[in-house]
Amino acid sequence: MASPAKKVKTEVSMDETCVEGYIHNVSAVRIGVRNGAKYFNASLQVSRDEFRHVVVFAVEKRSIFSLAEKNKSPVKLMKIKKRVSYEGGKFDVQCGKATELIVVTDVGFGFRESPQNAQKTVAEAKAMAARQQVGKMEVKVCRVEVATEMVQIMGANVETQTCYVQDSSGHMKLQLWAGQIGLVVNGHSYQMRNLSTREYLGCVSLTTTRNTEIAEIPEVAGASSFPHFEVKEEVVTTLTGSIIRAEIAVSKKCTKCQAWQPDFNSALKFHRCQRCKFLQKAEFYQCTASGRVALLQEGREMDLSVTNSVIRCYLEKEALTHLLIEGQNVEEHLLSGDAWRVHIQQDVVVGLDKVAETAESSETEDGELAGAMAAMEGERI
Ligand SMILES: [Zn+2]
Repeated sequence: MASPAKKVKTEVSMDETCVEGYIHNVSAVRIGVRNGAKYFNASLQVSRDEFRHVVVFAVEKRSIFSLAEKNKSPVKLMKIKKRVSYEGGKFDVQCGKATELIVVTDVGFGFRESPQNAQKTVAEAKAMAARQQVGKMEVKVCRVEVATEMVQIMGANVETQTCYVQDSSGHMKLQLWAGQIGLVVNGHSYQMRNLSTREYLGCVSLTTTRNTEIAEIPEVAGASSFPHFEVKEEVVTTLTGSIIRAEIAVSKKCTKCQAWQPDFNSALKFHRCQRCKFLQKAEFYQCTASGRVALLQEGREMDLSVTNSVIRCYLEKEALTHLLIEGQNVEEHLLSGDAWRVHIQQDVVVGLDKVAETAESSETEDGELAGAMAAMEGERI
């Protein structure tokens, strides 16, 4: 093993640099947003305390990188390029098809847990800068907001839900996105990996990312003595009326590469993904529906926004998810029902039911509402 390494060292040229250390945090294969190139990321521990970002544009090498990480093997990466890092004065390591990874006997320092992977408390996460990775946290969820929200990201409607997490050092806000909505239940404890920090008006909060993993764990230590977390809860009201206007947009996403498909034509049987270029059946694309409805109740009109999870929850309950192929199908369905029971928090619909023909009352018992909300929460999970 030592001899080929030595040989390369004598032949080193500008584009045949090498670097030694330990591999950490090998990511899943990713696809570049701009050019569609496949790659994966990792970190390289280059001294006792220093870590470098690594990008590898040769996904077939992922298994040997993963093995080196698993075995904590000291390695030499040959034929790499050093790129100037965004973090001033440092370099990032870029690997390509020509890059070789060889295991060496010693690099002069020991394997050390990457700071990215270290477990953080709520207080430690709150003290971090924005856009930093938080490797691991063990927290209790102390509040999950009932209403979700739709936000525009790169032209697509993406759903988000706010919750709050807590440990013995304090509490902080955590933003859940799309597929992670409904994954956590108020009062339960979770181990969360690969979160990221955000800052708004000087206040640091957490957000999930594409790589976030959430797993339920037994109650975190000391949870029974955590201070009670209180926020002013907006009241959920229930109204019965007819929907007289609806505007529901359905965004499509590739289930293979997660790319949004702004030019999706729902009239066609097949669609080619704009990023990964696979031709796939139209119904194979993931749908996110959201929009606005106008509810007419006792002569009064109310404009309400309606989010993906509410629409999806209703359609799943009624076995109507095939309507999601096109926004107008959902709009027509909403307009065709005579009466709807709509649960509202501020101007946001948090639950939706078609009223059976015999029911006429616009009053709903508290117990019934609680039941409907519980059913909705249950179905989301
Ligand atoms: Zn795709």
